[in-house]
Amino acid sequence: MNGFARLGLREELLRAIAEAGYTEPTPIQQRAIPAVLEGRDVIGIAQTGTGKTASFTLPMLQILAAGRSRARMPRALILSPTRELATQTAHNFDLYGKYLALTKALLIGGVGMADQERLLDRGVDVLIATPGRLLDWFERGKVLLGGVQLLVIDEADRMLDMGFIPDVERIVGLLPNRRQTLLFSATMGREVRRLADRFLRDPVAIEVTPPARKAESVDDAFVPVTGRDKRQLLEALLTREGIETAMIFCNTKREVASLTRWLVRRGVDARELHGDLEQTARQAALDAFRRGEVKFLVATDVAARGLDIDDMPVVINYDVPHTPDDYVHRIGRTGRAGRRGRAFTLVSETEARAVAAIERATGRAVPRLDISLEEAPAERFVPRTEPARASIGGRRARAAGAAASTPVGGSDGAGSGAKVAANEGKLRPRAEGTRRSEASRTQSPERAAPVVGLGDHVPRFLMREVPLRKLASSEAE
Ligand code: AMP
Repeated sequence: MNGFARLGLREELLRAIAEAGYTEPTPIQQRAIPAVLEGRDVIGIAQTGTGKTASFTLPMLQILAAGRSRARMPRALILSPTRELATQTAHNFDLYGKYLALTKALLIGGVGMADQERLLDRGVDVLIATPGRLLDWFERGKVLLGGVQLLVIDEADRMLDMGFIPDVERIVGLLPNRRQTLLFSATMGREVRRLADRFLRDPVAIEVTPPARKAESVDDAFVPVTGRDKRQLLEALLTREGIETAMIFCNTKREVASLTRWLVRRGVDARELHGDLEQTARQAALDAFRRGEVKFLVATDVAARGLDIDDMPVVINYDVPHTPDDYVHRIGRTGRAGRRGRAFTLVSETEARAVAAIERATGRAVPRLDISLEEAPAERFVPRTEPARASIGGRRARAAGAAASTPVGGSDGAGSGAKVAANEGKLRPRAEGTRRSEASRTQSPERAAPVVGLGDHVPRFLMREVPLRKLASSEAE
């Protein structure tokens, strides 16, 4: 079955798509088309070249084809910041809609008014317009906007840059409240988010990055681990690397919830970005992180999408992401805005396949950082002197190092025979919590408790050389 057919598109559209030569939907199409067909509002963070135009044009055509035309009342409106973009979108409409009897008017400057007027008088299903020109026609009484059920705001960030937002606001005010709204933007700044909050209702957020390419500004590393030791290794990693704040990604909601609970029990200011939370609640967690009330955000890919996350000092993949795209996307949360970022991925033996895919797609071997559990000395963990907090976001952890340490062995149900000292203690980076040099990583300065762990043993699958085929990421996906 053709990839587009799986998305639930009708035969007339599938035929047009096949004739355009497309066989597989792009990532944004895969995610946006079903959401739009379900009637959801969508915020799509995607640049030109990702196939974003078809991601809204195709489901729009399907929705309109299933409905009934309304005399002289367009049912869909696409707002574009420039004539060029509007013209391209109109071309997409013709291309994909060639087997459907739907009509459009392209309302842009520099085009003969007479043609536009004739079309408007006859009535069309879709208006594709720049905001200024649309308002011109509205003021002349030539367009009626009361029948618009579907609004698309394309390249919202450019609309902002070009000063069109007041016009867009006015136009939105002329539309019915009961409508579906799709907003696309190459970037998701504060302003775009504010627009989305105002115009969209409980939107599905979809973010795609251009094909897998790791940013130069991110130093990433794979940290080998055996599955059952992941939590202890995470503790060791945070301590050794002096990580005081980070975004931690897991592959499932369940793992996010359980890891967050585990961190909070240790007195770590962690909060989950739960996929079931609405965008506003997720944004609130993010704002708390920005204010420093939350030190660790634990998230799935889905929960983190569409959020305006400026720059994370460190990204940790608690699980190896399933696709190279997700890997690049996750670690792209750090190393932004001219800063250097660090990204660590905990890799268990069962994740070897995903590791190989990432290295193939990005065309490079990711350096391995071997941290044995023995290297998490007890002194780094300050025993809890206050009851564990069930909720987080309140007081920040006091500087570490004040209390004397009393190592307590335990494995906290992670099932490991390995014991990181003071598991019941508060996990805090060392007071001097600075990053240690590569050289110093190989040796543990102190060893306070008997530890059974990986030691010098590195699982063999991680020592194997991975053939690096210089694949373009698009081929790998
Ligand atoms: P856009 O991001 O909408 O500007 O689209 C970028 C280019 O990708 C356009 O030339 C489209 O014709 C093309 N395109 C859109 N969807 C697909 C697809 N599924 N497969 C291949 N090319 C596509």
